[in-house]
Amino acid sequence: MTSSSPPAVRLLGVPVHLVTPEETIRRLEEFVEDGRPHHVVTVNPEFIMAAQKNAEFYRVLNAAHLALPDGIGVVWACRLMGYPLTERVTGVDTVQAVARLAACRSWRLFLLGAAPGIAEQAAAVLQRANPGLQIAGTYAGSPAPAEEDHIVEMVRAAAPHFLFVAYGAPQQDLWIARNLARLGVPVAMGVGGTFDFLAGKARRAPAWMQRAGLEWLYRLMQEPRRWRRMLALPRFALCVLWEHGLRRRRR
Ligand code: UDP
Repeated sequence: MTSSSPPAVRLLGVPVHLVTPEETIRRLEEFVEDGRPHHVVTVNPEFIMAAQKNAEFYRVLNAAHLALPDGIGVVWACRLMGYPLTERVTGVDTVQAVARLAACRSWRLFLLGAAPGIAEQAAAVLQRANPGLQIAGTYAGSPAPAEEDHIVEMVRAAAPHFLFVAYGAPQQDLWIARNLARLGVPVAMGVGGTFDFLAGKARRAPAWMQRAGLEWLYRLMQEPRRWRRMLALPRFALCVLWEHGLRRRRR
């Protein structure tokens, strides 16, 4: 039996669950026990701004079973609105926490996406850190519709408990939503650049920068070509301040 959903709030119409990393893991355990398919999304300001212009992505985010507060901008916005959220729950930390538990519970993981060879390297890193961890499969593939049937067959045959999909947003979450019902996995989660971090292809910000809420800045320094995408951050901040101002005036 599953407990009731954790509280969710909406930022510019996109849901975010007010969960800690520990509550996230408990919820994921419940999803596995339940056995039915669940979609987990990792919400950051880029997601929220993309969803304002992409109706399908907006719908998919609203239909997700668990929307993790991945970006510091999301935590900032929740605090501004007075919602009780103190920390981020990132995709990469969640994948590592799942891998730790999976090694004890005999849960199998399937890593889909990223550049060729990266998912294998990420899987090897997770297995080294968690002896006994079962990797049901890895595959780079692509989110192209032509590959979909083939990938779904591969995942179904491997029968994992968790499917992590690294095709970047929104493709990864649109892909999951299109295929969730036929994948046969209890948990499918879009994880963005997680495999790149695990494989060491991309470096995570030092702990002090993460604590200071500056991981986005480190990422921008590492990959300056992201600047255009990151314009979503100031746009998001302005929209949230505007919405917050409107609400206060209405009260
Ligand atoms: N990716 C992919 N196929 C695609 C597009 C992206 O495998 O068609 C992978 C890419 O190699 C990277 C991940 O998707 O590993 C997306 O990473 P990004 O840094 O854009 O995601 P974020 O963490 O910003 O959501």
